[in-house]
Formats: sequence, C-alpha cells, structure tokens
Amino acid sequence: MKIAFIGLGNMGLPMAVNLVAAGHQVHGYDLAEAALAAFAAAGGQRSGSVSQALEGAEAVITMLPASRHVEALYLGAAGVLAQVPVGTLLVDCSTIAPAVARKVAAAAAEAGHIMLDAPVSGGTGGAKAGTLTFMVGGEAAAFERGRPLLEAMGKNIFHAGGCGSGQTVKVCNNMLLGILMAGTSEALRLGIANGMDPQVLSDVMLRSSGRNWTLEVYNPCPGVMAQAPASHGYADGFGVDLMLKDLGLAQESALATGTPTPLGALARNLYDLHSKAGHGRLDFSSIYNLLASQA
Ligand code: NAD
Repeated sequence: MKIAFIGLGNMGLPMAVNLVAAGHQVHGYDLAEAALAAFAAAGGQRSGSVSQALEGAEAVITMLPASRHVEALYLGAAGVLAQVPVGTLLVDCSTIAPAVARKVAAAAAEAGHIMLDAPVSGGTGGAKAGTLTFMVGGEAAAFERGRPLLEAMGKNIFHAGGCGSGQTVKVCNNMLLGILMAGTSEALRLGIANGMDPQVLSDVMLRSSGRNWTLEVYNPCPGVMAQAPASHGYADGFGVDLMLKDLGLAQESALATGTPTPLGALARNLYDLHSKAGHGRLDFSSIYNLLASQA
C-alpha cells in the first residue's frame, strides 16, 4: 500500500519504519531535516513537502504533537482534506482533544474520506518493537479497513467506539499514567531517603501491591532499569510537555462533564511546575527529580 506518513518524531519515525518493514511504500514528511534523514537511512522514502508525500497515497497517517498541528494539517487551505482523492483512509495517531478529533473527522466525512482517531500507548519502546496499543475511534467499517495498517505497528488494536472515542480512552489512560509516574517517584524517593537501595525497593514493589507499568518497564530512578529514559539522562522518550498536554486534556474533559479528578489536577500541577523549571523536553519520568529530598 502507498502510505503518506506525516510527523516522524520520537514515535512517528519507528512507526513509519515498521510500515516499511511490513512491505508498504511509505512516503514520510516532517518539518525537521534530522527526522527526514533518519527515515531515509532506515529505508523510507523522504518527501520534500506534505503535498509530495500525499501524491498517490491510499492512506495518510499522522503523528503530530497536539490538536493545533492536526487541525492545521488536515483543515488548512492547502490541507490534507483539500488534497487527497475522495475515499482516502486518514488515520491520526497523535494524542489530541476528543472534540478536535470529532471536528476533523466530521470535515473528513463531509469531504468523502474515511477517518480514524487512533492514539497509541506503549512509548517509544513499543513503537520500535511494533507492540503499541491502539485505541481507535471511528465507524466499524473504517476500523476494519485501518486494522491491517495498525497491526503492522502495534499488538493490541481496540475499537473504542465512534469518532473521538479513541482520544477519550487515551486521555483517561494518560491521566492515570501521569499519576502513577508521580506516585512511583514519590515512593522511590521516600525509600531512598530512608536508606533503601532503589533496585531492591523496585524489585519488591514490582512483586507487591504497588506494582504498575512504570515499575515494570519505565522505572524513573536512574540506574535501576538500563533501557529506561531515566538511565539515559531522561532523553527522548515521552516529553514532560506532552504529558502536561495530556493532563490538560484530561482536566478539560473533567470540567466539561463536571467529573471530579483531584489526583489528575494535582498531577497536572506537578508536571506544570517541572516544565516551568525548564524541563519540558526531558522524558516525563524526570518528574522524579522534582521530588528530590530537601533534607
Ligand atoms: P515529537 O515531538 O518527537 O514528534 C512530533 C514530530 O512532528 C516532530 O518531529 C515535528 O517536527 C513534527 N511536526 C510538527 N508539525 C508538523 C507538520 N505540520 N508537518 C510535518 N511534521 C510536523 O513527539 P512524539 O513523542 O513523537 O509524539 C507524537 C504524538 O504521540 C503526540 O501527540 C504525543 O502525545 C503522542 N504520544 C507520544 C508517546 C511517547 O512516548 N513519545 C507515547 C504515546 C503517544
């Protein structure tokens, strides 16, 4: 299949590379030259513009930072909707506001296209390994059409419901993840301040009732887990500012429905403080540093 893939960042690049490995003809585009060069080096076809990537594409996949990028790319005057032939499959994998996902999907349907919101979970490790979880919103027939592409990039492909529902699931999941990462960091800091070896403490909690995904694959304490961003200066991974965005989306959804989310609000404030202290581009597990002992 000929695919246009827009947004070759920490997540998009390995996802697009997995589509190439599955035998698809993938034309990638990103604003950053380094991303284009990395994609070409991995066997992908680099495009000089969005329009060039879209030429002849049967499907378009986007992996962009936030709502405003997705809106601009799809709905702009020279946007994707204005350029692709009727019936093109459009899959947005970015994490964005559910309301924006519904707005873009409605415009796509009006223009005769088929659109899915398909945000992911699993981090850069899952993107590289092709084991991402996809939470997909859209019509059932559209979901079935998109499934083979998603299976080349992920292991668990869920149909969440109508347009925007993939984003709603993602927002709930990431609010919980932000809380869990802050909570795990706090527990580790408490143990270390009281003389514990973080490796021993992590091993025990991993086999006890405090067990969670951050302890399993993403320990925030440097040195405990060789492959985790914490052991690599908190570089790459899932940025603090992206987590802050997701926690903001959770608060918007909470306000809109009058749902009490006090822990989500607290987590958002913690990541906001951390970002404002200049750490927005570090991996989100660096929230561990915000909780350093003051003793
Ligand atoms: P990133 O910042 O590494 O990558 C985004 C890329 O989009 C950048 O390379 C940027 O140059 C490019 N871009 C922006 N506007 C563009 C445009 N108009 N045309 C072409 N390229 C454009 O971000 P990421 O970590 O890859 O995250 C992407 C999305 O995936 C975000 O919505 C994020 O919330 C979500 N997500 C990230 C992770 C993770 O672990 N990093 C996990 C799950 C979901």
